[in-house]
Amino acid sequence: MKTTSDNAQWLARSAGAVWHPCTQMKQHETLPPLPIARGRGVWLYDYDGRRYLDAVSSWWVNLFGHANPRINAALHEQLETLEHVILAGCTHAPVVELSERLAALTGGRLGHCFYGSDGASAVEIALKMSFHYWRNRGRTAKTGFISLSGSYHGETLGALSVTDVALFKDTYAPLLRQSAQVPSPDWRLAADGESPRDFARRCAHALEAHLEQHHHETAALIVEPLVQGATGMAMHDAEYLRLASALCARFEVHLIADEIMIGFGRSGTFFAHEQAGITPDFLCLSKGITGGYLPLAAVMTTDTVYEAFYDDATARGFLHSHSYTGNALACRAALATLDIFAADAVIETNRSKSAALTLAAAALAQHPRVRNFRNTGMIWAFEADTTDATFAGHFHQAALGRGVLLRPIGNTVYLMPPYIIDADEISFLLAATQGALEDCLT
Ligand SMILES: *Cc1c(COP(=O)(O)O)cnc(C)c1O
Repeated sequence: MKTTSDNAQWLARSAGAVWHPCTQMKQHETLPPLPIARGRGVWLYDYDGRRYLDAVSSWWVNLFGHANPRINAALHEQLETLEHVILAGCTHAPVVELSERLAALTGGRLGHCFYGSDGASAVEIALKMSFHYWRNRGRTAKTGFISLSGSYHGETLGALSVTDVALFKDTYAPLLRQSAQVPSPDWRLAADGESPRDFARRCAHALEAHLEQHHHETAALIVEPLVQGATGMAMHDAEYLRLASALCARFEVHLIADEIMIGFGRSGTFFAHEQAGITPDFLCLSKGITGGYLPLAAVMTTDTVYEAFYDDATARGFLHSHSYTGNALACRAALATLDIFAADAVIETNRSKSAALTLAAAALAQHPRVRNFRNTGMIWAFEADTTDATFAGHFHQAALGRGVLLRPIGNTVYLMPPYIIDADEISFLLAATQGALEDCLT
């Protein structure tokens, strides 16, 4: 079936019909997209048979590789049983089992699981649920939300209103509700000689000052625990989460942990908030939840929140309807993903894998044009020391030329490979990253 024109053919047809996300389409005239025919493990193959290591885990979703045999088998079986059924007034084994197992992973503290289909809708659900909780409790003034500077929580209107990335937000500002931003504990912003932990404490003081003034009108604080992804893999000390959690409890403001990117082992623990020893009021999950197979999101919450909605009056119940809620295939993919975590002791295995990659990256980290080399769990990032405004695009192309798919955010290069990456693939990835850097920094 393969001909040398296959890539070109799909590119031409794609340009005629597909409007790509996060893309100025005109740039495809000079930098066309990558036509991907198939995937296997960490590798993506184009229609001409060339392969690329998927070092962004296909936008941070893939955990155990493409065409994973165990997830494939589970989906084949589910496909023959039940593909989907309405979740209003019906229930089914995959959604029950997934809810039970996710609850168990929070030690039973977040025992109620509400489903959506993508990260942004999980954030919408958490914001609405928090507001509605306070309303049901008679606290109708609590309608405001706080997020961290540089935060990213998705791009539907509600999620975008708590996002703080200018490129995504400024154009749509007239459509958005106001929200408040407090300083991010991103340790790159610490003063000279100030430790990440001390800086986290200083930022928590700023949060405290804000809450002292505004807690009456604030429903929730939403944070990306440990790593703020889309702003450029900004990392912070877990102390911030400990202090923020205590402040939220003291001021009666909900804490929403947006673990859409960082959950499911990416931080080095199953959930990132575990590293602070806290339990948020709401936990938003998506991306890795199905191993990168199908769109699914979950919002988990406490008995306290759940009970505030439990009533005879329909309007006191949570009002959010969405056709594909709890899709059986997606839930089955999520169960297969959790099976792999258990069977392969993934969190433990990743610990040594993460240490090995960091060790192997020592030369890259010490490169004279590399700044702020940093790592949390299975994420690595650094800033390239350059003033070239086209660096991200050039680096992306250079890395593709070396067989690796990477998409820097401005000057920030990050590596977020699937967890199944092996030692040879790690060497390949690091050599290509360093090579691409040299290509771009002449
Ligand atoms: C990706 C992401 C979202 C949005 O998820 P989508 O599925 O892309 O809507 C929200 N929050 C964080 C932290 C994310 O990384």
